Amino acid sequence: MKPSRYFIINFGCQMNVRDCERMEGILRERGIQASENSDSADLILINTCTVRDKPERKALSMVGRFCQAKERTRPELILGICGCVSQQYQEKLLDRFPGLNFALGTNQVAKLGEVLDQVLTGKRVLRTEWADADDPDLLFRISLDQPSGGVSQFVTIMEGCDNYCAFCVVPYVRGPEISRNPDEIISEVQAWSEKGVKETVLLGQNVNSYGIKNGSGVDFPALLKRVARVDGIERIRFTTNHPKDLSDRLIEAMAGERKICEQIHLPLQAGSDHILELMGRNYTGDQYLGLIEKLRSAMPEIGIGTDLIVGFPGETEPDFQRTLELAERIEFDEAFTFRYCSRPMTRAANYPDQVPEPVKLERLYRLSSAVSRITEKKNQAQAGKVKEILVEGVSKSDPERLTGRSREGRLVHIPAQGHRGLQGRLVSANIKRSLKHSLLGEVVARVDNEGNRQGEEQCILR
Ligand code: SF4
Repeated sequence: MKPSRYFIINFGCQMNVRDCERMEGILRERGIQASENSDSADLILINTCTVRDKPERKALSMVGRFCQAKERTRPELILGICGCVSQQYQEKLLDRFPGLNFALGTNQVAKLGEVLDQVLTGKRVLRTEWADADDPDLLFRISLDQPSGGVSQFVTIMEGCDNYCAFCVVPYVRGPEISRNPDEIISEVQAWSEKGVKETVLLGQNVNSYGIKNGSGVDFPALLKRVARVDGIERIRFTTNHPKDLSDRLIEAMAGERKICEQIHLPLQAGSDHILELMGRNYTGDQYLGLIEKLRSAMPEIGIGTDLIVGFPGETEPDFQRTLELAERIEFDEAFTFRYCSRPMTRAANYPDQVPEPVKLERLYRLSSAVSRITEKKNQAQAGKVKEILVEGVSKSDPERLTGRSREGRLVHIPAQGHRGLQGRLVSANIKRSLKHSLLGEVVARVDNEGNRQGEEQCILR
């Protein structure tokens, strides 16, 4: 029987969030409505991530639980697994979970409707081919006949990765790098803008290499400038970047175009040149430091985030010390710290000198303590500054507060009283103090799209 209500459970990154939006669009077009929870759904999709082992294990155990429920009490349930885990394990998933109706790969999101049609004829379906070379834009197509996620909207500009870093499974589960046609990107950004979106976040595994392979003549800095010309879009962010491809032209575009926020996520991964070489990252610690200097000299207030891995195979205590040293010297605004875990298919899984688990955990503790201390210090240093905030809406944890982000990506809360109409507006806020992971501010003015403050007197909170 045709399902009437779906529920999607998502594990993973922003790319997966975007894939969920694409799947929701397809389901809505077929008249299948969103369900509040999994109990009231007759179609459950589990969108998975395999970059680390924990979310993968959680997703698979969830599939197992739904299969049991289906066998015992919910025989009508249609159950699908999507994303990187489908791509990685293929037909083994259907063998392992007899209750699973289908497995949909990362490049086949657009085919969800067709797959459901096959399932309704009683088939169990595996659909994990790579994108069709004749129609690569199928990879990116999204139904625009749906509400946006709010003030800010992800827009995918490329898929896959050709870098094959030794620890990373992404090239194997998301396929080779494919850049989206720039005109399609602009059309999508325009469409979201017409729906009230104010900020676009351009997504790709390595946005810095956008357009280089497909020879469209539009590289990433050029694309940013085109996006900046879309009326109604007031802010542009992008993620994620690879230090080896970060160009001077990109830094110039960021510094020169007001709509591009001064924020960058630039994964360092490790500080030691020896480990960076084993990882296949193609830069040294000093080269990375050089990029940070360039970014900060062009944009002194830039927010810089990173990813750091400890316990990569062969990492010695001095190697780890170099990671710690760079983290303390650079003082990242945000740093995600990870313990290396071996992923199937990757080169590093076969490297000798795997680091014992207790050593990894002890290094992770030292590194995450250091980066938390730095983040806290940097947040405290914001007090007394006036920041431009894009108000996103009412805080999930406190209805008396509105939340938004500063240009460099910091989460800022402002009192809601007297300001409820500010959702989607740029305001100028005086930062009063820092909380653990955010800032508390007061609105002092609205900001027009040239960055000028307006109506200062009326907006001051007294
Ligand atoms: S650049 Fe490296 S870490 Fe990033 S997705 Fe590609 S292979 Fe993975």
